[in-house]
Amino acid sequence: MADFLPYGRQSVDESDVAAVAAVLRGDWLTTGPAVDRFEADLAAWTGGVPAVAVTSGTAALHVAYAAAGVGPGDEVVCAPMTFVATAATAVLLGATVVFADVEPDTLTLDPAAAAAAVTGRTRVVSAVDYAGHPADYAALRGAAGDALLLADAAHSVGGAWRGQPVGSLADLTTFSFFPTKNLTTAEGGAVATAHPDLLARARRFRNHGLVRDPAEQRHPGEGGWHQEVHEFGLNYRLPDVLCALGSSQLGRLAAFKARRAEVFERYRDGLADVDGLRLPVRHPDADPVWHLYAVRVLDGRRRALFEHLRGAGIGVQVNYIPAYWHPVFEDLGYRRGLCPVAEAFYAEELSLPMFPDLTDADVDRVIGGVRDFFGV
Ligand SMILES: *Cc1c(COP(=O)(O)O)cnc(C)c1O
Repeated sequence: MADFLPYGRQSVDESDVAAVAAVLRGDWLTTGPAVDRFEADLAAWTGGVPAVAVTSGTAALHVAYAAAGVGPGDEVVCAPMTFVATAATAVLLGATVVFADVEPDTLTLDPAAAAAAVTGRTRVVSAVDYAGHPADYAALRGAAGDALLLADAAHSVGGAWRGQPVGSLADLTTFSFFPTKNLTTAEGGAVATAHPDLLARARRFRNHGLVRDPAEQRHPGEGGWHQEVHEFGLNYRLPDVLCALGSSQLGRLAAFKARRAEVFERYRDGLADVDGLRLPVRHPDADPVWHLYAVRVLDGRRRALFEHLRGAGIGVQVNYIPAYWHPVFEDLGYRRGLCPVAEAFYAEELSLPMFPDLTDADVDRVIGGVRDFFGV
């Protein structure tokens, strides 16, 4: 049998290995110059919006909500078609998550649904750039009112909306650099924000909340060694070793994006005539980075196609179970039926393999497996 084809996979080449090895031979394994360099390199992709590197996409969400001051009594409006971390990190800070439904074509947060969910207690509205397709942040800005707008851009680093890069579209943007994402640092993430106060709070939360600048300290006369904590934080520092990998990978992001677009088109050309499928679409204003190739399998056949392709060594995946279907939300009183568009999508969704090192032959093998299932 042919090799197992995963649904997503990192692309690491010798330039990436060399970048990591160079840091390992140097003085700084963490809190050194490779962190600043990675943050600057990332800002070149966010339209100059500064970024704070952290240890995962989940840490990025936790940091972003903490920077926004999310706490008990606050509500966070959240898209349900996402990995659980988008909502879980807000709950961990004591907030109540209010799920608002997604748009049926792009699966990104529906501005009308978000507007209906916003109350005087809403502190953050969190959209997710599902599959790498940016949400409509201009419309969401209006929906959010006085609340901050957060983009969970775990799928969409390198994308744009009406020519404006992801990272510059919301008040806070979070990235993930897990191996299946558009670029990797093994584990890693980042928060980008153009607001100086949010940026300062994010930097502090990443580093235990430590205040080092004497001008900002409550007891600056203590001595040259002194640093103090004003608000609790955590250690979410991304080491230099991994930041070096990130900078190297950012140098390859344009090529990754281009190859993902080619794979997208090859799937479209190879599957457009299959009646039992609905293929992903792009909004004319969106410049996506296709992290996922998410098809809809009609007529209740998703599970059968999943099993057929898995049986053929093709690592399809389902992204995602609506976040509030997780028992932890069920136990908090969230019920099925809350977001019917997301639930109908989940019932049909299947992610075909999508990563830059897929060969045309790999893509054709997946197309062949799908066509074989439908007998066309
Ligand atoms: C991957 C992902 C996360 C979490 O990122 P990690 O780096 O795995 O912690 C959050 N949100 C979305 C939409 C993701 O896909």
